[in-house]
Amino acid sequence: MADEPRTIKKILIANRGEIAVRVMRACRDLGIQSVAVFSEADSAAYHVRMADEAYPIGPAPSNKSYLVMENVIEAAKLSGADAVHPGYGFLSENASFARRCEEEGIIFIGPKPDTITALGDKVEARRLAIDAGLPVVPGTELTDNDPKAALDFATEIGFPVLIKAAAGGGGKGMRVVESPELFEESLQSASNEALNAFGNGTVFVEKYLLKPRHVEIQIMADHHGNVVHLNERECSIQRRHQKVIEESPSPIMTPELRERMGNAAIAIAKKAGYVNAGTCEFLVDQNLDFYFLEVNTRLQVEHPVTEMITGLDLVREQIWIAEGREMRIKQEDVGVHGHALECRIYAEDPEEGFAPSTGRLKHYRLPQGPGVRVDSGVVIFSEIPIYYDPMIAKLAVWGRTREEAIARTQRALQEYRISGVKTTIGFHRVVLDHPKFIEGDMSTGFLGEHYPDNNYRVKDPETAEMAAIGVAIDKFVRDRKVLVSPDGQPQFRSVRWKDYHRRAKLTTTFGGNK
Ligand code: ADP
Repeated sequence: MADEPRTIKKILIANRGEIAVRVMRACRDLGIQSVAVFSEADSAAYHVRMADEAYPIGPAPSNKSYLVMENVIEAAKLSGADAVHPGYGFLSENASFARRCEEEGIIFIGPKPDTITALGDKVEARRLAIDAGLPVVPGTELTDNDPKAALDFATEIGFPVLIKAAAGGGGKGMRVVESPELFEESLQSASNEALNAFGNGTVFVEKYLLKPRHVEIQIMADHHGNVVHLNERECSIQRRHQKVIEESPSPIMTPELRERMGNAAIAIAKKAGYVNAGTCEFLVDQNLDFYFLEVNTRLQVEHPVTEMITGLDLVREQIWIAEGREMRIKQEDVGVHGHALECRIYAEDPEEGFAPSTGRLKHYRLPQGPGVRVDSGVVIFSEIPIYYDPMIAKLAVWGRTREEAIARTQRALQEYRISGVKTTIGFHRVVLDHPKFIEGDMSTGFLGEHYPDNNYRVKDPETAEMAAIGVAIDKFVRDRKVLVSPDGQPQFRSVRWKDYHRRAKLTTTFGGNK
């Protein structure tokens, strides 16, 4: 990085969906031009419409478009962009891509390529964490996939153990193994899955912690050696090891624990020569002991909750830092203001095992009002393609207290109206209503423990039926009133009780709409 700050005038966003839109919003706030890239499936997508310019980068499958480095670089050069923001996913944690940007004289808004390489390898990251004095989950660095040595180690630390891919991400190449008999088979299948997904079959073994919480620290570092942390996010509500609801602050946090975890995150960031925004993930056990998990070298999906409680715009700060300027944020100024929750809204059908739901949005009404922020990648009539991650929007809600944030989130979820695809809105309403969630009593096993059969319906059918009848009568009577014109003549629209009952049943048994 040159010593003199370099002002960024145009940013290419190497991504799609809500995160592309979110970065463009920061660009607009700063008077920076934004450039979109899009695949053939996305020519009419919202992020393309939002951008000042847009370039096609290939066919629909992401390995032919959003993941093709040279196509993205070409678009950046054609557009004259002086920086690239990678968002999350796709090329965001690809060191070669960051390096290619550098070679072309384009600023990569993220850490240096070597840092991405070091932290992207979970085994290497563990080593760095140990060097920086961080507590890690008991595990082995064994990287030659020797099944015998791995089994010996697993037996020594005790089952259950977790097999993880060194190059892992998105829960791929991860296997929980309960007993020695299943160990070798799991090792092989985890390694194969990792090889397919990442082109690297290296796996390692860790003690599988029971009922830990996932608590992560947001960090921000500049090119001048300044590193701060921006508090924690609790991300324990997960499905298949993937976050679905996040919040900040964590219900278990104390100022003392925050300081210790914050300092640990800063220590590894310094050790790794970290620059820009990043996240240090930890698992926290029931004694509130914490263990290093990994560092994500990019902006996270769940960054809005941090923004809400700190009042910062993380993308704006990322750009500032990428320009080579000294960070404006001082640790002593970072506070915790209120409480924020985020629900990831997926185009998935919770009643069909969360299968992706594709189609055209026939109806799309966003929630509004105090404390509500929606980062949506779609608008009405958007087409949800099969090719990409099914997350279509994020609902982030702020309240002065956790209780207020939950109440407002429930209100916002009720207001949200989507038809054309199935969504996880109803699922969120059910989870947020769970007494244990309300108490803040959760672990990464929360969903598996409380909804073992993926059954997110109201448990007692009789209660559900009574509630449905109540809701249906109420709505039926109200609509009938509306349908009678002022002169007392009935209007010609049939109001069928059956339809009301059917719809009410869906909202009351599943908590969702349609
Ligand atoms: P990925 O990069 O694939 O997302 P992570 O290492 O970040 O994988 O872990 C994702 C999730 O897996 C964690 O939030 C946690 O729920 C679970 N997990 C990971 N390591 C352990 C462990 N040692 N014990 C228990 N759960 C774990």
